[in-house]
Amino acid sequence: MDLFEHQARELFEEHGIVVPRAEVTDSPKQARGIARRLGGRVVVKAQVKTGGRGKAGGVKFAADPAAAELTARQILGMDIKGHTVGTVMLAQPVDIDSEFYVSYVLDRAAGGFLAIASAEGGMEIEEVAASRPDAVARIPVDPAEGVTSAKASEIAEAAGLPPQTVDVLVRLWEVLVREDALLVEVNPLVRTTRGQILALDGKVTLDDNARFRQTRWGAGDMEPGDALEAAAARKGLNYVKLDGEVGIIGNGAGLVMSTLDVVAGCGARPANFLDIGGGASARIMADGLSVILSDPDVRSVLVNVFGGITACDAVADGIVQALDSVRLTKPLVVRLDGNNATRGRAVLDERAHPLVQQATTMDGAARRAARLATAG
Ligand code: GDP
Ligand code: MN
Repeated sequence: MDLFEHQARELFEEHGIVVPRAEVTDSPKQARGIARRLGGRVVVKAQVKTGGRGKAGGVKFAADPAAAELTARQILGMDIKGHTVGTVMLAQPVDIDSEFYVSYVLDRAAGGFLAIASAEGGMEIEEVAASRPDAVARIPVDPAEGVTSAKASEIAEAAGLPPQTVDVLVRLWEVLVREDALLVEVNPLVRTTRGQILALDGKVTLDDNARFRQTRWGAGDMEPGDALEAAAARKGLNYVKLDGEVGIIGNGAGLVMSTLDVVAGCGARPANFLDIGGGASARIMADGLSVILSDPDVRSVLVNVFGGITACDAVADGIVQALDSVRLTKPLVVRLDGNNATRGRAVLDERAHPLVQQATTMDGAARRAARLATAG
């Protein structure tokens, strides 16, 4: 799960990284009061779990409390890359001398972590990385050794960061380890005109496998999409949100991945996918369908199952029972093949639900689901 900026900075602060004074609210009226407490002039920042807020108009200066209220009103409710702004953070502005970029990220291929740092941080970091890769230092970090002062000095030197950032680099590594994060990023880390080093932004991605021991983050810390993923995880389902319109349920990672490709080949985009794995019981099917149908972007659902250990008639029974407990509101295209496919199809034919259609091939099923999702 990704954290909001204000949550990331809470962790930074706990680990001794200096951040500007700030408060969060969902009310423009309160924004005025907060601005007054913070000294009048503030930066108003959209709290959404996506980057590039600055360029999207989600980070704005306000000269006084009245302007802060107005600006908060503008930013609240805004859509930034598909994320609706529900809260804003008001922060005390700082006078920037230089902006740096620093992050630690899991490098799965290398079986370790990677420190990425640049003396040219800020909103243009992607362009800098693309056009002048030399301006961005990439230093492998051995997870067993971690980031000691010596390692932090190596990173700072490679990136051309001032020596005062060494301490922040060590503390940022502590955040990653203590909080079970897969990514911690500060962009920009700034040197103020008075020479102080401050984290002006923060992104933290937590390792969901460690959720059981990171109990401080609950449902209230989530965006709607996160909540659905968490609900699926609680039911033992692998659910992943994407940005198209066809909901996809399949058994086995390989089949689900190919289904995504075939749907894309038919001119539609997957809205999400859910792998029901080996044992597709009625319960799992009902849970899976209810998760997929809770995604407002879904316009049709494709169930693609190849019966192996799980026989198709068991899956069909599951779908029929799911139809009793979940109100089907979108068309459902089912393709059953493999073990007991004929009996499975007969079970669905007998149920004869008006929104359920069957197809015998994966291509045929994908075409139909794609057409249903993109029609009208
Ligand atoms: P992002 O666009 O989502 O990464 O949002 P940021 O929090 O990084 O803010 C965007 C940009 O706004 C930063 O890169 C800074 O250049 C600028 N900014 C944010 N806070 C301050 C501040 O207190 N003072 C100044 N001068 N600039 C700020
Ligand atoms: Mn930023």
